[in-house]
Amino acid sequence: MEVPVPTRSLPRTRTVWDLLVVGGGAAGLVAAQTARRLGARVVLVEARSLGGECLHTGCVPSKALLHAAERERARTLRTNASGSARGLDAARRAVRAVAPHDDPARYRALGVDVRFGEARFAAPDTVKVGGDILRARRIILATGSRPHHPEWPGLADVPWADTDTLWSREALPHRLTVVGGGPSGCELAQAFVRLGHEVRLLEAREGLLPGEDAEAGHLLAEILAEEGVAVETGVRVERLERSGAEVRVVATSADGGPRTWTTDFLILALGRRPAPGPTGLDALGVARDAHGYLRVDPYLRTNRRALYACGDATGPPFSTAVAGRQGWCAAANALLGPWLRFRWAKGTQSRVVYTDPEVALVGGSTPVGSFRSLKIDLGEVDRALVEERTRGFLRLNLDRRGRICGAVLVCPHAGELAAELVRTIDDGGGAKRLLTTFRAYPSYGEILTRGASRLFDERWDGSLLARVAQSLVALGRLPLPGLPTLRPRDPP
Ligand SMILES: Cc1cc2nc3c(=O)[nH]c(=O)nc-3n(C[C@H](O)[C@H](O)[C@H](O)COP(=O)(O)OP(=O)(O)OC[C@H]3O[C@@H](n4cnc5c(N)ncnc54)[C@H](O)[C@@H]3O)c2cc1C
Repeated sequence: MEVPVPTRSLPRTRTVWDLLVVGGGAAGLVAAQTARRLGARVVLVEARSLGGECLHTGCVPSKALLHAAERERARTLRTNASGSARGLDAARRAVRAVAPHDDPARYRALGVDVRFGEARFAAPDTVKVGGDILRARRIILATGSRPHHPEWPGLADVPWADTDTLWSREALPHRLTVVGGGPSGCELAQAFVRLGHEVRLLEAREGLLPGEDAEAGHLLAEILAEEGVAVETGVRVERLERSGAEVRVVATSADGGPRTWTTDFLILALGRRPAPGPTGLDALGVARDAHGYLRVDPYLRTNRRALYACGDATGPPFSTAVAGRQGWCAAANALLGPWLRFRWAKGTQSRVVYTDPEVALVGGSTPVGSFRSLKIDLGEVDRALVEERTRGFLRLNLDRRGRICGAVLVCPHAGELAAELVRTIDDGGGAKRLLTTFRAYPSYGEILTRGASRLFDERWDGSLLARVAQSLVALGRLPLPGLPTLRPRDPP
């Protein structure tokens, strides 16, 4: 139900924009650009700087840190020095290198009116930014999410950072405890151990990458442990105590027993929570889900007809690729509906954990119900043998009719190879394309050919086609009149 909000007290504004976008992260930028391509008059409001989490505190700095850690590994192993200063410096350099892609001038040149300041709702169709009043026919909320902060006693007294604040630090102390064994926690733990730090990774659930493929999480835990990360799963942090420069982490293990460790610094990677969104939003009666994220329909419309939402603001999955796709759909639906409407969740999605090896999770990567799966070990691939990087696997999850409906790939460059699996599933899940795609040798992509070939072999044995082919071959052995017969040569 729409809640009426009085608008009479507002001064009248001359311009009524076709679209107002609040938030200049991945979702908002794509929405604004799409709207311009559709010929709309667009205004984009951003409280901080364009690029949002992905550019400033998410994908870009975290991947740069991992890359710097890989480069630094040999050096830190030699010197045993903590290299976080160099890693964090590389992360900031990467942000500066990518920032021109999200430069306000670029969007202004496209015709988007970019305004900086906190957007506050004054009416369902009106937003205030500083002293400006902006009215629009449609509004898109692309206001993102924020890191989850637990309420542990003692947290305020100890040094810690989350994924928002980590990047502005010059350097970190030697002993680090990363709390949270999801994708960000695993990436950070591997980066900092490779940068020469002593790293402990704590996860409350029973394995790493909780909620994803258990075997991938298990293998990743093994690999991180081999690199020197102290991986502790099934432990719940209870409180933190400061003792001089040290921090005591007090936790309970799965059997209820107490566990304690000392560390110098905590990095919290505990997942996301809804951002509050613009002031005045809740007074408009915009519905939220049980976790506080903005509730949208498959076309990204909220319960208020002129208000759309996209990206992290609508809840998981949290990814730049999802935010971008939603930004496109939200803008198209806001401007073209009711004549044309686009569902955002069409097609298969993939998610990637950028550890070494990478973990790609494609479609229904966790087998459910009567799914069957087929596994290929990375050790069967020549390129992996050549490079001695054989820890990994491909699992193809199959539906009842034997079609590929999901996949898990743990392998160098899995993020790049995931696109082929996405295409295969979107094309109906048959293995033919994977099998017949020409691949250079030796490449990691060969694991896909092997998976498809295993699937093909399973179907071939005993099939009608196999029987026909075998009969034709047998027929060729008979000396039929009119057909040339090959005779073995007489011995010399
Ligand atoms: C450490 C880390 C690593 C990650 N790595 C990856 C990865 O490798 N690949 C991947 O796909 N995803 C990754 N992600 C997730 C990805 O960064 C997010 O899913 C994505 O950036 C969300 O984009 P968004 O536009 O929805 O929100 P955001 O980028 O958060 O943008 C929201 C914007 O809205 C603005 N805003 C909020 N309220 C207002 C207001 N009232 N007025 C004006 N402006 C406002 C904010 O300032 C912000 O700029 C990572 C995240 C983290 C934390």
